Amino acid sequence: MNGFDPVRELDIRRDLSDASLRLLLQSEQWDSSLAAAADDKRRKIYGDEVYLRGLIEFSNFCKNNCYYCGIRAGNQNAVRYRLSKEEILDCCTQGYDLGFRTFVLQSGEDPFFTDALICGIVSEIRVRFPDCAITLSLGEKTRESYKAYFDAGANRYLLRHETADDTHYRKLHPESMSLQNRKRCLYDLKEIGYQVGSGFMVGSPYQTADCLIEDLRFLQALGPDMIGIGPYIPHKETPFAAFSSGSLSLTLRLISILRLLFPYALIPSTTALGTIHPQGRELGLKAGANVVMPNLSPVRVRKLYELYENKICTGEESAQCRGCLEQRIAAAGYRAVTAVGNVKKEKQNDDDC
Ligand code: SAH
Repeated sequence: MNGFDPVRELDIRRDLSDASLRLLLQSEQWDSSLAAAADDKRRKIYGDEVYLRGLIEFSNFCKNNCYYCGIRAGNQNAVRYRLSKEEILDCCTQGYDLGFRTFVLQSGEDPFFTDALICGIVSEIRVRFPDCAITLSLGEKTRESYKAYFDAGANRYLLRHETADDTHYRKLHPESMSLQNRKRCLYDLKEIGYQVGSGFMVGSPYQTADCLIEDLRFLQALGPDMIGIGPYIPHKETPFAAFSSGSLSLTLRLISILRLLFPYALIPSTTALGTIHPQGRELGLKAGANVVMPNLSPVRVRKLYELYENKICTGEESAQCRGCLEQRIAAAGYRAVTAVGNVKKEKQNDDDC
């Protein structure tokens, strides 16, 4: 191919044409050079540091009916739970003692948690743990709600766009939801001043290479601080039960592409990646990811936050999870750090990378 090297071009130009992206996505040919370039890039900016985020899944009630998700409202067999404010604060205390300096509060879209309740929880965490980042992942809300949580002390928000292709979006979600609203949320969050995370599932039903290219283009337009991707994994109580999981190699390829497109992004090596392969999270780090999010939820509810089947790390106490991950990170050649781990911003005239 006349020596054309899409990895080198992506590395240097931090962008690539649709045609070259398609080539890169659809071939195994560049996998090792892609991962090496991505790892090189992350080391230049973040060294060997891997940031830890303590994930607290505080409610699996959800009013939505996303066709892929195990905690969708229509799953009558899901055993539902909510943590109380005190239980959430206990998770934070335990997490703080284990060295976590970021708490991620995630839930289904649960109307029980009114803005007043969320603000009460956030402001109490802010008072008790002033040196910690508070990340929320509660789904789609009004701009006013997002602003209220921000004013209460939240700093970051995770909301994957799931897919940036309208037709694909319609195949994954019921009529009551819209890509337009999802995007509105992300731009509101950004304008309010949150560090914003978005992302998508890899290998979700009906996804094509063109969908993935649209995902990358949307992320380029949004300019998120954090980008979370993971393989789609089926759940038997959903309309998509018969579809198969997204692939390890495509997920790793996309992590590397993301690292080269967004050198400064915080990119987690996700639990879903660890679920489809025993070394999935280690491989994710080697492909360019620099964050892991161990679970701090009480063990008795861990299994119930079942977005997909066979989710890993549902049996261990937080301390065990923390220790296990630290070892895995070290074995992969990186270092787990307890720093708050804010996104590093690009310096002007940075010719280093
Ligand atoms: N209610 C929140 C949190 C959703 S769960 C929100 O709307 O943002 C967090 C993420 O899990 C989702 O954004 C989705 O990308 C992912 N997820 C859901 N079901 C999944 C599945 N079956 N396989 C893999 N990832 C899934």
